[in-house]
Amino acid sequence: MSMEIIENYIDGKLVAPNSNQYIDNFCPSTGEVYAKIPNSDIDDVQKAVESAKNAFPIWKNLSIEKRSSYLYKIADEIENQFDQFAHAETKDNGKPFKLSKHVDIPRAIANFRFYAGAVLHFASESHKGNQDFINYTLREPIGVAACISPWNLPLYLFSWKIAPALATGNTVVAKPSEVTPYTAYLLSKVCQKVGLPNGVLNIVHGIGAKAGHAMVSHPDVPTISFTGGTKTGQNIAKITAPMFKKLSLELGGKNPTIVFEDCQIEEAVKTSVKAAYTNQGEICLCGSRIYVQKSIYQKFKNAFIERMKTLHVGEPMSEDSKIGAIVSKQHYEKILEHIDLAKQEGGKLLFGGKTVQPEGFENGWYIEPTLFENLNESCRTNQEEIFGPVATIQPFENEDEVIQLANSTPYGLSTSIWTNNLAKAHRVAAKVNVGIVWINCWLVRDLRTPFGGMKQSGLGREGGWEAIRFFTEAKNVCVSTQV
Ligand code: NDP
Repeated sequence: MSMEIIENYIDGKLVAPNSNQYIDNFCPSTGEVYAKIPNSDIDDVQKAVESAKNAFPIWKNLSIEKRSSYLYKIADEIENQFDQFAHAETKDNGKPFKLSKHVDIPRAIANFRFYAGAVLHFASESHKGNQDFINYTLREPIGVAACISPWNLPLYLFSWKIAPALATGNTVVAKPSEVTPYTAYLLSKVCQKVGLPNGVLNIVHGIGAKAGHAMVSHPDVPTISFTGGTKTGQNIAKITAPMFKKLSLELGGKNPTIVFEDCQIEEAVKTSVKAAYTNQGEICLCGSRIYVQKSIYQKFKNAFIERMKTLHVGEPMSEDSKIGAIVSKQHYEKILEHIDLAKQEGGKLLFGGKTVQPEGFENGWYIEPTLFENLNESCRTNQEEIFGPVATIQPFENEDEVIQLANSTPYGLSTSIWTNNLAKAHRVAAKVNVGIVWINCWLVRDLRTPFGGMKQSGLGREGGWEAIRFFTEAKNVCVSTQV
């Protein structure tokens, strides 16, 4: 495997880190190092912020149509290089190639196109209160936005932040996860190719605790959009509170799947398996606590396990693989520790629980889809986000009980509810404390809808107008029509 060197993208140029230090970047499917990424520090972040600051007045004063056209060009160019992007995402993250091709890269392209279009239709509100006054609200870009994203949906989540930030006239300093930097690096080259003005987008690679920390604590970065773990989010909130920075935090989840006896059981089984194990369970929206009404529990459980048997774990480029490699050795070990913990807590292992060594890829990090039962809601397995292919299943008696179970963790990101009784579906949707509810479906995304969580799953909402509002500052102007 040839060694590739990734560079920072600062002020329109691909540059080495100031310290000239690099970090190993691993390919999860083989466990080998295949690239080096900049171990950036405060000096690199300083240069990136300065460049973004200088570019801000020019970028914000460009016409909306012109800004929008750059985003369309970026989307088109990613599409031109579709296969390269999809391969890179799978190599870096370990996810099945099919997912990169059908979800990650198409959705990254869609993010740029969506915000390129949305910003053209965003209008100021005006309020005519009485005869003598009119209010109107200006929405102004804020300045330099920091966009920090995790490793599970690398380009998809990176672009989910960058696109609305740029569309609204902010300039950006962004950091992908150090574990999955490659498609962000390809994006830098795309920006160069389409001639995005220097400094409008800067991409700094490196470790979160160093480069990420320097970004969020920088006094010239007034707004931060972060997706990642709850602990990191808490840390960022603490650092930034005294500076009154504007924060959007999309954090962890421990999402309940709720299956009532009157659902379409085959569809519920199929989609609940998908919800638990897609992307190796490494999606914040994965349904990792499955609650099934008692009268259909055995039937559902048996069908669920039968379906798990069809989830072939293997080399991510293979068409047969439904589950690829875990993103890093550290995360692989964390998931295995959680599997041990579930056993110690008295969990009954119904399926999986072991590592897998696909032929020719024995040094990669693979884990079987895993299912436990017999664990109560207060145990760590049901309280902590594992972020891997591990789920629990348990029966419930009635609506009240399942609502209480669903709300029993510190998280509140999403839920999916399975029933043919629409009144019940709406009732339960209203009582589960989460930001996103799917009824008889899962992970259906419409970019216009608000996205985000309650409780420790985050702060604020992204998506649609929410992101445009987040990346702008409202200024109300009140005009007398009498003077
Ligand atoms: P982390 O919180 O570890 O990291 C997220 C990003 O923040 C990375 O780029 C990381 O860099 C950076 N970072 C780490 N420490 C700091 C710091 N002190 N200051 C600034 N930046 C920092 O999360 P993971 O990458 O492990 O991602 C998994 C988590 O993301 C899960 O909890 C998952 O639920 C959540 N997530 C939430 C989503 C949502 O929309 N609610 C969507 C997807 C994931 P580095 O990688 O170099 O450490």
